[in-house]
Amino acid sequence: MTERPSGANNEAGTDMTGAATVGEVLDGLSDDGLEGYTYAYLDEHTKREVRRAVLKAVAIPGHQVPFASRPMPLARGWGTGGIQTSLSLLGPAETFKVIDQGADDSVNAANIRRLAARTADVETTTDTTAADVIQTRHRIPEEVLGADQVLVLQVPITDPLRTVDPSDAANRRRHAHANYGKIWVRLYESIVEHGEVQIAARYPVMVAGRYLMDPSPIPRWDVPKLDNAENLFLFAAGREARIYAVPPHTDVQPLAFEDRPFRVERFDGACRACGATDTYLTEIETEDGERLFVCNDTSFCEKRQEEPALPKDHHLDRSGVDWGPGTGTSVEMATDTGPATDDPAPDTGGDRT
Ligand SMILES: [Zn+2]
Repeated sequence: MTERPSGANNEAGTDMTGAATVGEVLDGLSDDGLEGYTYAYLDEHTKREVRRAVLKAVAIPGHQVPFASRPMPLARGWGTGGIQTSLSLLGPAETFKVIDQGADDSVNAANIRRLAARTADVETTTDTTAADVIQTRHRIPEEVLGADQVLVLQVPITDPLRTVDPSDAANRRRHAHANYGKIWVRLYESIVEHGEVQIAARYPVMVAGRYLMDPSPIPRWDVPKLDNAENLFLFAAGREARIYAVPPHTDVQPLAFEDRPFRVERFDGACRACGATDTYLTEIETEDGERLFVCNDTSFCEKRQEEPALPKDHHLDRSGVDWGPGTGTSVEMATDTGPATDDPAPDTGGDRT
């Protein structure tokens, strides 16, 4: 792949390659990422295997399909399932976007984007509306996704039943029998104890009336976007070697009781940068100790800064599209309900995907 600086100079300040710094080593690397590698990094057999798992997942919405997860040049838990899925789907004509917690510029997102650009020769973008494949961690974009787009979510924990039983074997039997009594009891106990369901992220959903699914650690704000969407959602867990999917126009309902409906987060304030009140906001603290809210979706926030009234479906040929809170018919959901927990941000701790 590369012509390294030669010489076994091991004087102080240099390593065995003779380069003084990591930067010098990187400068010596060839820009031609394809040299010595298969297209899109993974070998053809692996990509076919991932695509077969994706097809099976699409055929059985919400069902966890095993796949032979490969080692990737990033640590397990940092999006290896997502990148394997993205690289198996991407072609040279496609445009790729990667977000991490709504931001395009985090180190992890930038590295995944660069790996795809180098090895799959794809265009990359930060514009949600311009991307064919979007890989994401912890968020679904604010702008409505269309029928020709695929959202690949990185998944740390695949099974929502693991919160009530650590045994995967027992949980697989529960999925087979659609026996979800335990999770309902957990929700009920949460209401008895706290007066409401206390799940900030990874809110369990029922897919197509059959499979209970973990939507990955997206905030509750994003959960309604899964229902009857135009686009395909793929969920990939590299560590657990599982892929599952929500195909377009699939019924996805968060678990809730008739007298205790599902509620999204509410924010007391608007985005400091663009003034938005209909987006998922992140609380940040300035150097002066002032606490303020900004949009979590940085790409859409930049567009809103130029055009504050820009609707979330501005790029589609129709308007009033139902895409979670603040769009179409779901506006009431965003304004009339209180937070189900006191923590608006998905609390994922060190839980890398
Ligand atoms: Zn904003």
